Amino acid sequence: MTVPDRSVANIIDETFPRVRPKITNRNAHFWQGGADGILRLLRCRDCATFLHPPTPVCPSCRSTHVAPEALSGRGTVYAHTVNRYQWLPDMEPPYIVAVVELVEQVGLQLMTNIIGCALDAVYTGMEVEVVFAHNDDVYVPLFRPTTAR
Ligand SMILES: [Zn+2]
Repeated sequence: MTVPDRSVANIIDETFPRVRPKITNRNAHFWQGGADGILRLLRCRDCATFLHPPTPVCPSCRSTHVAPEALSGRGTVYAHTVNRYQWLPDMEPPYIVAVVELVEQVGLQLMTNIIGCALDAVYTGMEVEVVFAHNDDVYVPLFRPTTAR
């Protein structure tokens, strides 16, 4: 178990346990990289394309020279919905499920939750920033409005 750095302002502890992802050598940078508050994705060393979800081969140039790299953690809401069904016993609805597009690359998107604002405040194009939900040794990247500080 890692101990979170409490000086990092974008790490939160949630009141419920999320489903734990299976950590592998290929995805540990994503699920555990948030321990210092920084979002990390794989990036191709040959053509500079970011890859998500992580794959061992760059989809743009077929290079296998991919490695984790830090991103700004900033993005915009590409699409979202309000989930009102209780899929998980500990995760109380309603909550926002969203696709966020990161500022570093057109089409670089990840599925996440938007937190820190009212459900009806979320809109397509809303500027958001990463925040990590800490649980044991996992840091799940979520997003909040950039003005929520
Ligand atoms: Zn490439």
